[in-house]
Amino acid sequence: MPNSAAANTLEKVARLQKAEALFTRTPGRNRSAWDQAALRVAWGLYPAARLARTESGSVLLGLSDGGTLALTLSDSSSINGEALWEGAERFAVLNSGAAYALFEFSAALWSDPRLSPGIGETAALGDAIEIRADIPRGLEHAFACGMAKPGIAPPLRPAAWLAEALAELGRSGRLPAFQATLTQSLRMLWLHEIGHVVLSHGPLVSGGRKRAALAEIESLRAYGADASPIASVDENMRRLRHGIEMQADRFAFDRIFARTTEETAIPSFLGAICPPTLLHAIRHLPGRPDEAVEHPPIWFRAVEALRAMHARGLSNGAVSALLRLADLHPVFGDWFGGIAEGVYDVAHAQVEAQALDALAPQSARQRAALLEIAPRPDDQSPLDLMS
Ligand SMILES: [Zn+2]
Repeated sequence: MPNSAAANTLEKVARLQKAEALFTRTPGRNRSAWDQAALRVAWGLYPAARLARTESGSVLLGLSDGGTLALTLSDSSSINGEALWEGAERFAVLNSGAAYALFEFSAALWSDPRLSPGIGETAALGDAIEIRADIPRGLEHAFACGMAKPGIAPPLRPAAWLAEALAELGRSGRLPAFQATLTQSLRMLWLHEIGHVVLSHGPLVSGGRKRAALAEIESLRAYGADASPIASVDENMRRLRHGIEMQADRFAFDRIFARTTEETAIPSFLGAICPPTLLHAIRHLPGRPDEAVEHPPIWFRAVEALRAMHARGLSNGAVSALLRLADLHPVFGDWFGGIAEGVYDVAHAQVEAQALDALAPQSARQRAALLEIAPRPDDQSPLDLMS
């Protein structure tokens, strides 16, 4: 390796290690099954743009402006992902709790014999045991996150439950459906955050403005105000946030359904709506209203996923999967019922128009700052620390 290439490589590794040090308290530890799944998916997203990979699995990608994008996992148990900027360095960070929650939710869905009984041998599955009747199976971690006080890590299901669920799925032949749902849900989460980075959303919503809007809501809560917090948040700010989240969702949906076939349409669609469903569950299950300050409402995001599938000529399986969710728990009926009948068509058009309106003044600035995930030049050999 020539000296300049060696220096380049060392610099890239240093950047990636810096990213890991920022977000991971224990770099290089033995990762859990869900962390490993999340990092495997990150590794597979942009093979041509990969620059480096650390021992713990974080991936460094090249960007078209010469900067870098580090895909890494933080140890936090909260269900979240984030896109962050630090000059030419960008980070897409998934919390370990989000990877866990997607793992738990996908396993719970496919080990329930009432979901798509035509896939696999459902007779081989045990009864769908609920931990709490008011919480859909697989959303227990989301519920615990919604209830937890800051700093208190919510309890996770015992590892034995997951091992047993996976064994059952293997016996029933539904393991591939679980894997497809989990993989798509992880791709959705990574690509959504990557979308924020490459669409240059960072400069549009400064941390200060975002924090001010959220602080307003928190202060209303502190005073026990009954008034809908939505009305109090700067309306333009909320519409802009919706526009940005809609763009990031569209970026992700378009890419995950590009590889979907009719055979994988149902697990793929369920994977696509898993992350928005978990975020919604965190607020809704503990009984707080869905303020939809940052992300558009859950029905909007589900309709967007369905439309992205329509655009790829994939639709029938997804609509029936959405309807079958209501068989699993009445809460899913509340969240997704009516979508297939077009109940939200008018409201969807309205939220979309308002979001596009709020984005319009920003679009020239945004276009000027658009980034691409850049294939690495041929003369730079990628450094794979795992090989
Ligand atoms: Zn987002």
